[in-house]
Amino acid sequence: MRPADLLVPTPAGLCCKPGAFHIDPTRPVEKAVITHGHSDHARPGHGAVLATPETLDLMRLRYGENFAGATQAIRYGETVALDGVRVTFHPAGHVLGSAQVAVEAGGLRIVASGDYKDVADPTCAPFELVACDVFITEATFALPVFRHGDPDGEIAKLLHSVALFPERAHLIGAYSLGKAQRLIALLRKAGYHKPIWLHGAMEKITRYYAARMELGELRLVSDAKKAELAGAIALCPPSALQEVWSRRFPDPVTSFASGWMRVRARARQRGVELPLVISDHADWDGLTATITATGAAEVWVTHGQKDALVHWCVLRGLQARPLDIVGYGDEEEEAAVGQETDDANATLPATDRSE
Ligand SMILES: [Zn+2]
Ligand SMILES: [Zn+2]
Repeated sequence: MRPADLLVPTPAGLCCKPGAFHIDPTRPVEKAVITHGHSDHARPGHGAVLATPETLDLMRLRYGENFAGATQAIRYGETVALDGVRVTFHPAGHVLGSAQVAVEAGGLRIVASGDYKDVADPTCAPFELVACDVFITEATFALPVFRHGDPDGEIAKLLHSVALFPERAHLIGAYSLGKAQRLIALLRKAGYHKPIWLHGAMEKITRYYAARMELGELRLVSDAKKAELAGAIALCPPSALQEVWSRRFPDPVTSFASGWMRVRARARQRGVELPLVISDHADWDGLTATITATGAAEVWVTHGQKDALVHWCVLRGLQARPLDIVGYGDEEEEAAVGQETDDANATLPATDRSE
């Protein structure tokens, strides 16, 4: 069987014709296999959804009980047969419940990674390497300039600033699903035991996480008196940093946790005083090391900086091609009200655009 007989990009997303399903479809389809709960991958309105129990729960939290006609929970390591095609879920290390989907038929194995990272995250199962013939990788941070470094070091930077400015609040923009909870877990791991304050938009998801792991005392910003917020750490969706909402904080230090914070111009442009380079996506080294380790002879590249990664693969004798599926966003940038995500290159020095 050729790879294109098993999986093929269509306007609705990646389609497995022999198995009669789509992976992370961007339009409503009959049967959807979904890698993780971020809204551009997990959309409502499909006939049936197959996903991990956590991804199904997160979709329910976001869209309500009737987000799909039917659901089927698949645990990590579990295999289901869909019209003779074997589908197995493996941890992707991206957010709680995130999975890579291995699709197998006729002796061919294709792994669709969804979004992934290959570094430790206290809030989700670690990325599992799956050997395959074709690896479908994301490319959100697929430029050599992106090296995320050590998240504990970034947390230490934050705690140092909190100690330095005990009268100011620290207001951190973080994506509501995954990043916010990871920051809380990292702060607890670093020994920060005071209450952490939340924007109302992240309450439901954070409570869901907190029922499964120790996140310490969490409080809602809307319940706080202004004086209580002096010296506090508060988390909000990145877009709230610029909103009226943020004015309730006493002289806040604005911070933003994202892989994009590696680019100084980005932090400046957003008025971020304390950029934290913490990403839920693999960086350049992570992407290239993972591709090599899968042993795949062929690589398909989805959303992000596709060209640089395709180029890297071709130089190493791998077959590679970009998959142009419209509809995947960039949750690390979600933030930016009215700002396009694909202007990433515009803020990078020209020399960083190619290898
Ligand atoms: Zn994602
Ligand atoms: Zn994505």
